[in-house]
Amino acid sequence: MLVNMNEVLLPAKKNRYAVGLFNAVNLELARGIISAAEAAQAPVIMGTAEVFLPYGPLEEVSYYLIPMAKKAKVPVVIHLDHGLEHDTCIRALELGFSSVMYDCSADPYEENVKKVKEMADIAHSYGATIEGELGHVGDNDGSGEEDPHGSDPSQFFTDPKMAKDYVDRTGVDALAIAVGNAHGAYKLPPKLDFERIRTIARTVEVPLVLHGGSGLTDRDFRQAIRDGISKVNIFTDINVAAVKAEFKHFTDMDKGLIDLIPAAVEAVKQETMKKMKLFGCDGKAAYRAADPRTEGMDLSSKELQALIRLVAEEVKKYR
Ligand SMILES: [Zn+2]
Repeated sequence: MLVNMNEVLLPAKKNRYAVGLFNAVNLELARGIISAAEAAQAPVIMGTAEVFLPYGPLEEVSYYLIPMAKKAKVPVVIHLDHGLEHDTCIRALELGFSSVMYDCSADPYEENVKKVKEMADIAHSYGATIEGELGHVGDNDGSGEEDPHGSDPSQFFTDPKMAKDYVDRTGVDALAIAVGNAHGAYKLPPKLDFERIRTIARTVEVPLVLHGGSGLTDRDFRQAIRDGISKVNIFTDINVAAVKAEFKHFTDMDKGLIDLIPAAVEAVKQETMKKMKLFGCDGKAAYRAADPRTEGMDLSSKELQALIRLVAEEVKKYR
């Protein structure tokens, strides 16, 4: 079923486990992720990011992501990761994404607050959730993002007091923090500032998000989740798992795409399930929270139109 982020992250925060966001840039990734969630009985967050749109345009990706989420036997959030442009976030909401991240972390603080507050109001009017980022999560080579900040990431770590002010003023539902994590494959072993995670978790109310999860050790994850992380973003690990599986099955030049697709789906499924077990969200599909922001909300006119279309189609069948 399609849900928003609050419905799966509020129980995660309360019960000290984390839900993974796995980006599904193509159909193999999406199928692997959904089958992992169903096999592990886990809630899951699936989506794409603005930097991945050259590989799969937002609208086309929405054609499979949203129906797959609705059909799934476990709660699935469809999330736009790192929306960089205002219009991209709006398009995602219009297409039916149940959650967006509006990343204004490279902007000056006041600008970040102003832009994200405005987007939070819009997202909530759709019944969707929103994630913001404060501090700046760096980028390793090959992450698809450029790091404008050079070599000293600690000067961009999230400040706990500022984090509280940011959440209060923007109304974000989840907050991505910079605590020594980085996007893409790490060149040197990362060193997370666990003390900072604990302090921020004590200071702000909303679930905290750890980006750049691929490449951290299992111990890092367990500790970060114990200290207050409720959502972990993973892409590099499933991306690489798919290609390794395809490479292994590409035994001769006569192999075609359809010889490789099942291997890729299975590899993504296995890697995703491994992460779900590590994050402790396996078996937690039934842990759901009513979203305090949208509980009791009336049907929007868009939902009403969808309902009318559905009824009209059903009626047609019996003519
Ligand atoms: Zn990120």
